[in-house]
Amino acid sequence: MADYLISGGTGYVPEDGLTAQQLFSIGDGLTYNDFLILPGFIDFTSDEVDLTSALTKKITLKTPLISSPMDTVTESSMAITMALMGGIGIIHHNCTPEIQANEVRKVKKFEQGFITDPVVMSPRHMVSDVFEAKVRHGFSGIPVTETGKMGSKLVGIVTSRDIDFLSEKDYDRPLEEAMTKREDLVVAPSGVTLKQANEILQRSKKGKLPIVNDSDELVAIIARTDLKKNREYPLASKDSRKQLLCGAAIGTREDDKYRLDLLVQAGVDVVVLDSSQGNSVLEISMINYIKQKYPELQVVGGNVVTAAQAKNLIDAGVDALRVGMGCGSICITQEGLCDTNIPDSNNSGSVMIFPKCLKTLVYFLAVMACGRPQGTSVYKVAEYARRFGVPVIADGGIQTVGHVVKALALGASTVMMGSLLAATTEAPGEYFFSDGVRLKKYRGMGSLDAMEKNSSSQKRYFSEGDKVKVAQGVSGSVQDKGSIHKFAPYLIAGIQHGCQDIGAKSLSILRSMMYSGELKFEKRTMSAQVEGGVHGLHSYEKRLY
Ligand code: GDP
Ligand code: GDP
Ligand code: 5GP
Repeated sequence: MADYLISGGTGYVPEDGLTAQQLFSIGDGLTYNDFLILPGFIDFTSDEVDLTSALTKKITLKTPLISSPMDTVTESSMAITMALMGGIGIIHHNCTPEIQANEVRKVKKFEQGFITDPVVMSPRHMVSDVFEAKVRHGFSGIPVTETGKMGSKLVGIVTSRDIDFLSEKDYDRPLEEAMTKREDLVVAPSGVTLKQANEILQRSKKGKLPIVNDSDELVAIIARTDLKKNREYPLASKDSRKQLLCGAAIGTREDDKYRLDLLVQAGVDVVVLDSSQGNSVLEISMINYIKQKYPELQVVGGNVVTAAQAKNLIDAGVDALRVGMGCGSICITQEGLCDTNIPDSNNSGSVMIFPKCLKTLVYFLAVMACGRPQGTSVYKVAEYARRFGVPVIADGGIQTVGHVVKALALGASTVMMGSLLAATTEAPGEYFFSDGVRLKKYRGMGSLDAMEKNSSSQKRYFSEGDKVKVAQGVSGSVQDKGSIHKFAPYLIAGIQHGCQDIGAKSLSILRSMMYSGELKFEKRTMSAQVEGGVHGLHSYEKRLY
């Protein structure tokens, strides 16, 4: 008898459900929809659930959410908001290295502790220079030093209050006439801790606090706005300098080394090697190269879906693995095209509608035949990688908050999302209307649409020598979801509720319950899936948050 005694209980309860090991031992690949997690015992409130989880060997996030490096999902605005919410954004590379590095820089500059490289001017700069800086950088609090450089004597500061009421006729006045002079400034000595400096700043009731050395030379400033940001976003993902964490994707070719250098100069915290099949000579040599040149930089390898693929990347020294192949919402890697539109063979960009009888041909043209259902991929890779302390990112196929909980319960430390975060205010692109519905574009990076824009996504999905391009993604649209500022808290609360139902007070407890066999799963039949959805209603409105 496989019965067991619940400690402190009054009797035996029969064993129920399957352990993760049993669930995945059968050999058929499972998606998130193919199973459920059985509920456990609750003795805590959902907001007590701790979602802290490892992104890589060295970076920990308070929220296990990542926005995907896709050109309709993550640029600086998304990355800033994801980091403020405790997750992280990975800036896409379907643009020039310079543009991508600039997006990273915007994230790193958004919030800071000591600003050690602020924009500085000299007393001979003009009022118009400050207005120009405001347009270019978004701020107008500018310390003024003798030479207009850091490390030179502080002589004053200009802020919005000094120039707000000036008009065009004042534009060519020197700053020396507009600035607040040194004798009226509250400053702090170099060597103060950030905490002490913040206290001085609060007491001074000013917007900026210059930090000067013994010779009264400027070494840094701190901004009141950053204190407010810090208070408003207690989960924010930050580095030791209090700058937001930011990731960026690169390819595995020779010219990606230049891109890498620019990203590192911009302060990137983690690079994601963006390849749909990561187990390759190119990726392994890129990992070796990065680890040698930038030993401190965190590197995510992938994508992989088997332990054998994972082994090679772990041996090469990756700090995390990105798991998923063919499970993304825009992806046609596994299956081929769902509908019958494919590009014409001479790649002119036009679309041919294939008649039904040619569907088999379409299938062979588009199918890569490789991939794995995402539930199985996550479990198999995470189960292997945990022996080496390498965290797993479950990438793609996340359609609901329940899928996030399932991915985490199968051993993933974090989840990466494309479609779920697309069409939010922070996603790139403009909204448009179609049939009265407000939409934003969302496209696969292996779609012809994306590949025509720049060569970097071609590299993820094609080999350089490929003469005939085979699309591995589609281009479409997603309905408006509002701002990440509202959507991320909904996801966070949803994950906490899921963990509460399971009886796991933290994500690390969730994972250890799964590996110990305490966490039980059950397969879902097709009819169970129907039963689990809304059914039997004439009509209903689906509002999630
Ligand atoms: P934290 O508050 O969770 O970041 O904890 P720390 O102990 O690391 O913070 C040290 C001090 O830095 C505290 O006084 C924080 O309020 C302050 N701090 C945190 N983030 C920022 C920031 O972005 N800018 C400034 N100026 N101070 C910050
Ligand atoms: P300002 O009063 O117009 O300067 O703007 P705020 O102080 O309200 O906001 C400035 C924001 O930009 C803060 O979050 C700073 O951390 C950030 N920042 C980044 N680089 C610089 C810089 O060189 N100078 C200033 N003043 N702010 C910077
Ligand atoms: P989603 O969250 O939309 O289900 O999936 C997003 C993930 O799909 C991305 O993070 C990336 O791994 C993958 N992906 C993005 N574009 C394409 C594509 O064109 N083809 C394939 N096969 N996968 C893609």
